[in-house]
Amino acid sequence: MNIILFGPPGAGKGTQAKNLEKKLDNHQVSTGDMLRDEIKKESEIGKKIISYMNDGRFVADEIVNNLMKKVIFDPSKKGRLIFDGYPRTLDQAKNLETWLTESNQKIDFIFFLNVNKKTIIERIEKRKIIEKRSDDDLETILKRYDTYMETTKPVLDYYSSKSVFNEIDGGLKIAEITSKINNILNV
Ligand code: AMP
Repeated sequence: MNIILFGPPGAGKGTQAKNLEKKLDNHQVSTGDMLRDEIKKESEIGKKIISYMNDGRFVADEIVNNLMKKVIFDPSKKGRLIFDGYPRTLDQAKNLETWLTESNQKIDFIFFLNVNKKTIIERIEKRKIIEKRSDDDLETILKRYDTYMETTKPVLDYYSSKSVFNEIDGGLKIAEITSKINNILNV
């Protein structure tokens, strides 16, 4: 099954994606990780996106969509995808739908991890100490949250009426969120 984990930065998408990866033998598809990899490799894409990432702004749809296309059309991953951080714009959501249809796939579950701004700030400040991400300082966190609210909120409105949509309180403890997701998936 294909799953979308949706929610603001710090909602716990990555943590839940890793749990689901193990449980379902699926593949976590984290655009943030893929983009950070490009920066680490100092690739052409990496050089283009570094300032956007460090500033807490979104990377252009075209770049992100191209990275995604390879994954969606990879036969070894077909029907076993966990999207973490994609789609984040309506354009990305429409692309995803088109490519899933073209490759005979669909979205089986969408989990929206809903967390308030105060919790996000607390969590990301903790994560900064552990992961040392350059986009985890307070100013950038606030910018990432505002970018999410402006750009990603329309995607949420678009998905929330679908039958595969599930909202979960992302302020709960990790194990509680995992258990709620597992219950809905019946695994
Ligand atoms: P994340 O690891 O998901 O928090 O993403 C870190 C950063 O990568 C974001 O703040 C954006 O700059 C960039 N990014 C990740 N996913 C996307 C996406 N789907 N569209 C545009 N930019 C993205």
